[in-house]
Amino acid sequence: FFSPKKAATAPRIPPTRLALHHFDVNYSLQLKDQWPSVRAGLLCEQKYGALLNNFSAVHHVAQELELLNATDFVSEAPKKVQPWQRGAAAEEAGRGESVSQEGSGEGRTVMQAETMTQAETSPPLRASITSNIKCYTFPRGDITRFRPARPDTLGLLDYYLMDAASLLPVLALNVQPDDFVLDLCAAPGGKTLALLQTGLCGHLAANDISISRTKRLYQILHSYIPREVRETVSVTSCDGRDWGQLEGGTFHKVLVDVPCTTDRHSVMEQDNNIFHKRRTKERQMLPMLQLQLLMAGILATKPGGEVVYSTCSISPLQNEYVIERAVEVAEAQYDIRIHVEDLSHFRTLFQDTFSFFSDCRMGELVLPHLTANFGPMYFCKLRRM
Ligand code: SAM
Repeated sequence: FFSPKKAATAPRIPPTRLALHHFDVNYSLQLKDQWPSVRAGLLCEQKYGALLNNFSAVHHVAQELELLNATDFVSEAPKKVQPWQRGAAAEEAGRGESVSQEGSGEGRTVMQAETMTQAETSPPLRASITSNIKCYTFPRGDITRFRPARPDTLGLLDYYLMDAASLLPVLALNVQPDDFVLDLCAAPGGKTLALLQTGLCGHLAANDISISRTKRLYQILHSYIPREVRETVSVTSCDGRDWGQLEGGTFHKVLVDVPCTTDRHSVMEQDNNIFHKRRTKERQMLPMLQLQLLMAGILATKPGGEVVYSTCSISPLQNEYVIERAVEVAEAQYDIRIHVEDLSHFRTLFQDTFSFFSDCRMGELVLPHLTANFGPMYFCKLRRM
């Protein structure tokens, strides 16, 4: 029978334990033999990348990091691709990534052209990484930590430390000169900052429903971006699910980086943990919220425009299933056809830096690994036809 006294004193299972148990049950089925290694990665210190601030006046940072044996994984990637892989990856890129051809167009900047000259790869592969984004990482197995960021004479910080895998959705978005870009779930702003580093956005709208997290986004913009550029970004705190109705069909590129079970956080931190018993309902409703946000992102995109959907979870229910449902709903309810783009060339390009799951049905998934402890990060690109 129910005893209130006993219930009050019963030991509470910490949410991190609940999360790990949930993952042990579900991810061992999905990842099979790989799960123990991914599990070890999730429970160990994560690796960071240093996203260089192109707006900072400090010029020797790249040199300083190179002396420590760090490299810019974005520009290094194509140099390491073997000739036989170039053909295959270019073919994959060409098949799915019709947009990547646009990168070799006339409008590119000098910085882009430089990156392209360095990278002796076939055109589609080259174009997919011409972004001006520079992110330094230490080699596989090297767990050196980066020093904290430092301000330049104007007070702008020299780099931003983030999970380097978080840049992959931004690179997949492949921003082109003067694109109108929407970052629908933007706070605290790591990916917004990366989008601004491209120097290509014609207009950038950054939105997040949380007022407190939007404040952190403002702080990041203040710490990294000069005022004249900052003023071109419109920051809002709307419910992203309403966006399609507010400003439908206006953006060339939309990033939908949804709230998810944040797997690494869930097994490591008790605070703000979505596996807390009182948040069970909220956790179970996540795929629905994710689908609604992705639908809003699709509706906000111009015909021919592209949406990148991303999570930092391994769960297929929050990844591929959301994509599949969105494609169905777009067709059935809005008469919008969606093409799921092939991103397998990302796996070829960035295999030295990240550990990719090879069995994703659509999109790509970076899995934590003790020698390359980034992610998890799932990303998938959709084109509105
Ligand atoms: N893109 C961010 C970055 O790179 O720093 C991280 C985004 S985080 C994974 C997900 C965000 O979605 C949270 O900041 C949360 O406040 C926001 N969010 C949750 N529900 C939302 C909604 N209905 N509309 C807009 N944003 C929402």
